[in-house]
Amino acid sequence: MVVVEPIKASDIERIHQTVCTKLKRLPGVTWSPSLRTRDRQSYAITGLSLVFFAANLRRIVTKQQLVVFLRRHGCCDINAPNPRHFGMQNGLFFLVKDSYHPLAKRTLRPGEYCLYSLGKPHPARPAAHRSVQLPSDTFEALKSAYGHRCAVCGSKEKEPHLKNPTIHTRLEKGHMDPTQPLVKQNCIPICTLCNQVYKNRFSFSARGFVVRELLPAKPSAPLLVRRRRQPCPATSQPAPLRPKPIISKKKSSKNVSSTLPRLRMLPHRRVRG
Ligand SMILES: [Zn+2]
Repeated sequence: MVVVEPIKASDIERIHQTVCTKLKRLPGVTWSPSLRTRDRQSYAITGLSLVFFAANLRRIVTKQQLVVFLRRHGCCDINAPNPRHFGMQNGLFFLVKDSYHPLAKRTLRPGEYCLYSLGKPHPARPAAHRSVQLPSDTFEALKSAYGHRCAVCGSKEKEPHLKNPTIHTRLEKGHMDPTQPLVKQNCIPICTLCNQVYKNRFSFSARGFVVRELLPAKPSAPLLVRRRRQPCPATSQPAPLRPKPIISKKKSSKNVSSTLPRLRMLPHRRVRG
């Protein structure tokens, strides 16, 4: 794990200003998170997270390191910040799990992040495809049309969630097609729980049914796809696939007995002493 150097409080403001200046130059990026909360009394989690990633540019850092940094600077009420939207949604060249890091020469594991560049936008993001913001009154009308329920699971806003009654349902603006702008025709109300599960990997119908699964990375984004098998230099044939384990993790959790190889019962022999 990369050792993260502490960032001085006096440097935070300067780093934030530098980052915002660079973001303005990025084509198709209109996002510029504030460093302070509305009352200006404390740091805003998103703005401060961006400072953390910018100070560790091109380094692979973990969510745990981010939480430690946020708590050190007063953002104590956050347990799990979710910076995954920095990339595809906000347009930054931001690597998340399964993204390939060309310098570290490996793919990122779950809970690992890296702000790779502030000079280029996210390579897999069509220009400005998600920069349109849906007005709040339009979203309120949309929620009303859905009976203030999550379009996917049906949980009602401000009431106990149907799948997890310990939390109260909060509705967010969800994309029907995550590759398209967030306009009214492409928006459904979706609860935070469903949004966390489906992320931007699926497209939905207006009734909240999954229409298709989107590929986690596009061929046009070489840094974001898993590395393909390298051809053997002698034969120019692709390297052989690794043999699959007899029992995969998924199968073992469902029905272990059906995946186990049948054992031949041998006749019992008495060992003579
Ligand atoms: Zn839901």
